[in-house]
Amino acid sequence: MRALPASVLAVCGLIASACGGTGSGGAAAGQAAPATTAAQASPSSATAKQAPPEAKPLDGKVIVIDPGHNGANYRHPAEINRKVNVLTQWKACDTTGTSTNSGYSEAAFTWDVSQRMTKILERRGAEVKLTRTSNDGVGPCITQRAAIGNKAKADAAISVHADGAAPSGHGFHVIMPKKINGPVDKVVGASSKLGISVRDAFRKGTGLPYSTYIGRNALDYRSDLGGLNLSTVPKIFVECGNMRNAGEAAKFQDPKFRQKIALALANGLQHYLEA
Ligand SMILES: [Zn+2]
Repeated sequence: MRALPASVLAVCGLIASACGGTGSGGAAAGQAAPATTAAQASPSSATAKQAPPEAKPLDGKVIVIDPGHNGANYRHPAEINRKVNVLTQWKACDTTGTSTNSGYSEAAFTWDVSQRMTKILERRGAEVKLTRTSNDGVGPCITQRAAIGNKAKADAAISVHADGAAPSGHGFHVIMPKKINGPVDKVVGASSKLGISVRDAFRKGTGLPYSTYIGRNALDYRSDLGGLNLSTVPKIFVECGNMRNAGEAAKFQDPKFRQKIALALANGLQHYLEA
């Protein structure tokens, strides 16, 4: 087991300050949240001097959302290709991600879905932190993306991606960490529970099938991803589908479908956190 040098974590904070957020929460967002009501007192009760604040299902929970890649990565290859230590190997600091054949980028997709998820989860009471602040910046490195979740002591963390596989392949899958004789080992079990919860909610909420080309029942376990290897909080990746598949590309380019994805992911996180 090798310890991660602090310097690796310190040099990756390349977050742009501009905010290009365009996500918009749909009216349907949040409808699936289980109703949790703290106050059962009759509204007509004269003794109820002050109503307690309405309890929300995710009150007190911290969720870190990592929108995969970043919109300007492709213009900064030297910064992005710099090698960082992910414990099992050295990997590029970040990658450009994929895109649909018509040019809709994975970075834009993950940013939009993450913005939508944030709105839904905050309405349900969660404190949400993102690993980047816009889709026109560079990075941060995968080491930093993990460090943000760790520092926040997140109850759950999710890295949002979409795949760039052979066009005939389709469907979604969830990636969970494996034991690597490292700090992630202690959250491998919890991450697996989180992954199954998100898998089930994603299937139900989006109607997309399990991946036809990777994993088993949409579940995959890997020890080569820095974002997972370096996590000390329960964390998963979701590959929402294959951007190179025509059917899924069309869905991902539809804002209504992205809202569906965001809602499904939020529900999966909530089910895990309430279990
Ligand atoms: Zn990706």
